Amino acid sequence: MSGKWDDLEAEARAAMEDRGKRCAVDLFLSTLLPYDADIVRGVLANPGISNTGLHRAFRKRAHAGDPIPSAWSIGRHRREDCRCAKGAR
Ligand SMILES: [Zn+2]
Repeated sequence: MSGKWDDLEAEARAAMEDRGKRCAVDLFLSTLLPYDADIVRGVLANPGISNTGLHRAFRKRAHAGDPIPSAWSIGRHRREDCRCAKGAR
């Protein structure tokens, strides 16, 4: 019988790599249809909408298991303090 913690090391390792490769906003955008992703990018570019407001709106629309970016990740992405801006993809 295998416990639910058996894969912990592999999962932690995968999470480390994810973190190094992509930002949470980019990851989230990649789960959306191109049309929807354009709408989200438009709102991200609007300085009148707060990170927290966006995060809550994402959560409201998301399906279970969707990688919703935190307000903190959204802020980083908007400040271009993430991998997207550094062209490291
Ligand atoms: Zn980003």
